[in-house]
Amino acid sequence: MNEIENISAGEMIRAAAGMGAAYLEAVGDRSVQATAEALAGLGELDEAMPAGTGDPAETLGLLDRVGAPATTVTAGPRFFGFVIGGQVPAAAGAAVLAGAWDQNAGLQAGSPIGSKVEEVAGRWTLELLGLDPSCSVGFVTGATMANFTALCAARHRVCANAGWDVDGQGLVGAPAMRVVAGEQVHISVRKAVAMAGLGKDRIELVPADAFGRLIPGELPELDERTILLLQAGDVNSGALDPFEKIIPRAKAAGAWVHVDGAFGLWARACEGKRHLVRGVEGADSWATDCHKWLNAGYDSGLVICRDTEALLGSMSARASYLVEGDRRDPSWFVPELSRRARGLEVWAALRSLGRAGVDDLVARCCRHASRFADGLAAAGFEVINRCPGGGVELNQVLVRFGDDATTKRAIEMIQRDGTCWVGGTDWGGGLRPGARGPHAMRISTSSWATTDEDVELSLEAMIRCARSAAE
Ligand SMILES: *Cc1c(COP(=O)(O)O)cnc(C)c1O
Repeated sequence: MNEIENISAGEMIRAAAGMGAAYLEAVGDRSVQATAEALAGLGELDEAMPAGTGDPAETLGLLDRVGAPATTVTAGPRFFGFVIGGQVPAAAGAAVLAGAWDQNAGLQAGSPIGSKVEEVAGRWTLELLGLDPSCSVGFVTGATMANFTALCAARHRVCANAGWDVDGQGLVGAPAMRVVAGEQVHISVRKAVAMAGLGKDRIELVPADAFGRLIPGELPELDERTILLLQAGDVNSGALDPFEKIIPRAKAAGAWVHVDGAFGLWARACEGKRHLVRGVEGADSWATDCHKWLNAGYDSGLVICRDTEALLGSMSARASYLVEGDRRDPSWFVPELSRRARGLEVWAALRSLGRAGVDDLVARCCRHASRFADGLAAAGFEVINRCPGGGVELNQVLVRFGDDATTKRAIEMIQRDGTCWVGGTDWGGGLRPGARGPHAMRISTSSWATTDEDVELSLEAMIRCARSAAE
């Protein structure tokens, strides 16, 4: 008798949900960075591959006992690293169902519900972000893949316009293409350019201003062979490129305009911040994340493309997609075939928050970031991206606690203290070879769970650690 047959999957889901609930109910009490003791505990997993079948409940129990303490507490209210947000309650619940349902969302036949929620969540997202409702939306693992997918569509269109079928004939012998981007382009976009065969070292970098915005006057001559990469939300400063000044000009020159809006594109969903992303709707394609500002849980990004034919031309493995009528499989729009139904969490997050909830989430995070900036400035520290009138534009704060060594020491002390988590970054040098900016601490406020009280508690810990780092 196989022991595994004795325990139903339902029991395991129930047990796991209980463990997950217990974790979340006390999440605010955990050290945000895993303690040294918790990391040492991971050694318990260094066992030999089991020879025989064991008890699933025992396996789950081990995972909970050893694993929960060794998490980075991104689900809690005081994680401010990497702009990665948390997970709103409806998304956390939908993830449990997604696990129980075991759906393959690549095909309609593999998951009618998976396809349906993607269609609905895609439509709602276009509405929230104020993008053309006829755009296509693909569900991918994150902004890196969304950028890659959009670059493939761009490559398809630019080559097709020059009489070349790049998806059929490849890049060997293809017409020369140009990629132009601001010098603060995210490192993952450079990687996506490389994966798309366009050469990350061939990117024509355009100088950015002190906040990290591309300077329109520095743009080179653009043409119909150009893919222009813009950014809504610099991962360090939160800066948004001046889309209104750039996109009409790029479109007039015949270039394809893509916007990496991993988190910043969500400013479109917030009335008080929408002016920062004016004009972004004029682009050809956009990449954004749902696991960042929307708090829909990992792994979740969206590629949005105006030119459906180019997107399908580069992503659909089928020759007959145009004659299939209404039936469209989710996999036609993205690189993967088999994948989990990540649309479930996105749909649940959007449905539970509603338009007002998303607006408030973005506004609240921006308010928290401004409080951090003003509090740290008042304590005498240098906030690099603080606005002249106080506060910051979006949800990112860059601060220095003296020289590079002191700043690094302060960051380490804050992480070890465990009240909150923040990381470090080198800011200001762009990606020009050899250029490196000074070291700074980066605070990203993007979790629904953070309260004003969490901000004060974290601010107090930051100032306390920074002062002792300077001694
Ligand atoms: C996070 C981020 C990315 C990469 O997104 P992933 O979801 O981690 O793949 C790209 N660009 C910007 C601006 C980001 O903040």
